[in-house]
Parts: sequence; C-alpha cells; structure tokens
Amino acid sequence: MQVDVAILGAGAAGLCCAIGCGRRGRSVLLIDHGRKIARKVLASGGGRANCTNEDIVPADYVCGNPHFVKSALARLPSRDFLDWIHAGGVATQVEDAGKHFCTGGAITLVRFLEARAREVGAQFMLGATVAAARKDGEAFAVDTDAGTVRAASLVLALGGKSWPGLGATDFGYALARGFGLAVTPLLPGLTPLLAGPDMAAFCQELSGVSLPVVIRGQGEAVGSLLFTHKGISGPAVLDASMFWRGGELAIDFLPGLDLEAVLAEAPRLEIKNALARVLPKRLAGEVAQKLALAGPVAGLSPKARRELAAKLVAFPFTPGKAEGYAKAEVTIGGVDTAAISSKTLEATRVPGLYVIGELLDVTGRLGGFNLHWAYASGFAAGESA
Ligand SMILES: Cc1cc2nc3c(=O)[nH]c(=O)nc-3n(C[C@H](O)[C@H](O)[C@H](O)COP(=O)(O)OP(=O)(O)OC[C@H]3O[C@@H](n4cnc5c(N)ncnc54)[C@H](O)[C@@H]3O)c2cc1C
Repeated sequence: MQVDVAILGAGAAGLCCAIGCGRRGRSVLLIDHGRKIARKVLASGGGRANCTNEDIVPADYVCGNPHFVKSALARLPSRDFLDWIHAGGVATQVEDAGKHFCTGGAITLVRFLEARAREVGAQFMLGATVAAARKDGEAFAVDTDAGTVRAASLVLALGGKSWPGLGATDFGYALARGFGLAVTPLLPGLTPLLAGPDMAAFCQELSGVSLPVVIRGQGEAVGSLLFTHKGISGPAVLDASMFWRGGELAIDFLPGLDLEAVLAEAPRLEIKNALARVLPKRLAGEVAQKLALAGPVAGLSPKARRELAAKLVAFPFTPGKAEGYAKAEVTIGGVDTAAISSKTLEATRVPGLYVIGELLDVTGRLGGFNLHWAYASGFAAGESA
C-alpha cells in the first residue's frame, strides 16, 4: 500500500493530523493496534472528556523548552476549537477553572473527529500490529502484520506509556530512538500519590473524604483532594504529581479561611467539633487525634490556636511514591523537542518524519490541556506532512 502520509496512532493527535493532511488533499492512512480509535479520549474526564480549557497559555505545559508549544497553540486557540466542534454538534459545558466537558459524553467528540477524518478521505488500519518503521530511500516503510505501507511522510502519534489498559505502549519512544531522536527521562504524571508509612493509617481512616485544598511544594496545585485507602487523589493531587519529586508537601486544608476567627466564635465547643465547622467531620476528628487536641476550644492558649491554624494551612504530607503508569493520566517527558520543529513538528534531521501529541516531551497540567496539545500539535503537523 502506498499513501502520502502514514500516521501511527489513531488518538486525538493522529486524528487531528489526519484531518489537516486530508484537507490539503494528501492521502492518509491511520494505523493503530487498537480495534477502537481514541480510547484515551473515550476514557478521559470520567467518560465526559475534559476536552479543552477556556484559558490556555504556554505556562500550562511542562517541556524541556518552554517556548516549544507556543507556535502550535497560537494556531489553535481553544475558542476556535470549541466553535468548530460546537458547529459540528458536539455540545460542551464549562465547569470550574475553565474546563470544558462534552455534554453528551466523550463519544460525541470521538465520532466527530472520526467523521471529519473520513470526510477528507483518511483511511484506517485498525487492530494492526506494527513491527517496524524505517526510512526507505526518500520515503518511509511501515511493516505491519497486514503488509508493508509506503509513505512520503511518517507521523508518530503513538502517545505516552501511561495507562496501558487503554492501549498505551512505549513503542513510540523505541521508534523515535530508531530514527536517532533522543527521549528525555520518563515519569508518570497526573497520578495519585501513595501515602508514606507515617500517613498510611491516617489516609485509610479518611478514605472517601474529599475537600478543597491548595497543595504546595516545588509548585502549587489548587482543587479538590480525595483521601483513598492508599493515599491521596483528586484533581489537586494529580496536578501536584506534576511537580512532586520526593520530600514533603504542605497541604492547606483551609484555603482562604481564618481558623483563629472560627475558633474565637466557638469557645465552648470541643476542638474537634469546632474544626468540623470548616473541615469534613471525619478529617476534623482525625486531625484533633493526630495533634492530641482534646477538650473545649477555650482551653487552647492564643499560641496553641495560632499553631493549630498554621498546621492546617501547611499540613505536612510526605508521599511514599506516585501511583505509577497504570493510573497516570499522562507520561511526563518524551521525545526531546530540541530536534523537532516547533512550527511543523517535523524532525529537523529526518525530513518527512513528524512527532506529535503526548509522545513528545510536552505535558499539560490537569484541565483539558493535554487533549488540547494533542489537537494543536496534530493540526500543526497536518499543515506540513
Ligand atoms: C484515564 C485518562 C483520563 C484522561 N483525561 C483527560 C482529560 O479529561 N483531559 C485531557 O486533556 N487529557 C486527559 N487525559 C490525557 C489525554 O487523554 C492524552 O494526553 C491524549 O489523549 C494523548 O493523545 P495522543 O493522540 O498523543 O495519544 P493517545 O491518545 O495515547 O493515542 C495513541 C494511539 O497510539 C496507539 N498505539 C500505542 N502503541 C501502539 C503500537 N505499538 N502499535 C500501534 N498503535 C499503538 C494507541 O492505541 C492509541 O490509539 C487522560 C488520560 C487518561 C489515561
């Protein structure tokens, strides 16, 4: 089989690249080992796909070169993306922090992207095993179990290695290395954090409790935290996993609240009951027990009140480790962007080879930023491949 563009990986990035290439009249073949396309999109946002964010800036991404994402993002503002999908019947609703979710579920977005790709003539080879991809004279050859595909351009859109249950592999990194591209160190990102030994029982006791927090360490993460029987999870924790590399985190359980004022209003209450005015009841009880605080609020000296308030705005939590690739929404690190054009996503030393999406060393924070990067980088490559 001979095509202009072979795209390995039919996820969000591969589909958008196919749409872009097809619009320019290029013949396109998407090859994926899954029988279903875009399985990560289908699972994203709890099945509702947090598909983009109202407010996207380059600083929302971690990348070895912080300027790398600028060009592709500038060519796909989230407003334009939303207008495009809304016009095609994909409804979204905006929730906290500018996150857009697909009202009819992630499936509406996947069907839309597939329809747009098929409209411009893209073909799909699904359930295919790719054995190798190599340079073949001026072109590329992709060896699959259904035969060899020859293409003038080859796009690697194979995603990161996180969440293998959804078809993720590390094949993209191996292929990229085979073409002489470097891969930066890989880490699981946007993942729950497991409790260290000193906090394991505390978390277990509080499993199921959730509250708004701010987590501070080498960065700052805002949102809700959920205690689980193994540690902590929830949007703020997933975001904190992007900067946590070991050591202690400080959790503010009382963002924007003045605990000393709350205590002053309730001198006769048991300390744990006073805390329960501003914290979930079970957390208030566990905190009082952990800090050995009993008796009425009136029994606390002004210094003890100050110390308690300080403790609850910077509650020390040392994770044992991040949960790992099985439950990480993204892979931090990837194909080194130093050898990739930020404008076209083409490998500077391998003409005709493109790398897009999560496979690159580009990772967004929680909130629709990773899917948006997949589309933006896919479309940018689709203008050139
Ligand atoms: C559970 C979960 C929830 C998420 N929720 C959100 C969210 O709400 N919002 C958000 O912005 N981001 C979210 N993400 C992250 C986001 O889904 C990804 O960053 C994005 O889908 C990456 O797109 P991609 O096209 O680069 O890669 P992928 O979507 O991973 O696509 C890669 C494709 O390559 C195929 N492939 C892999 N290996 C091989 C191989 N060896 N041979 C052939 N084909 C192969 C895969 O089957 C897949 O179809 C979530 C991720 C997960 C896991």
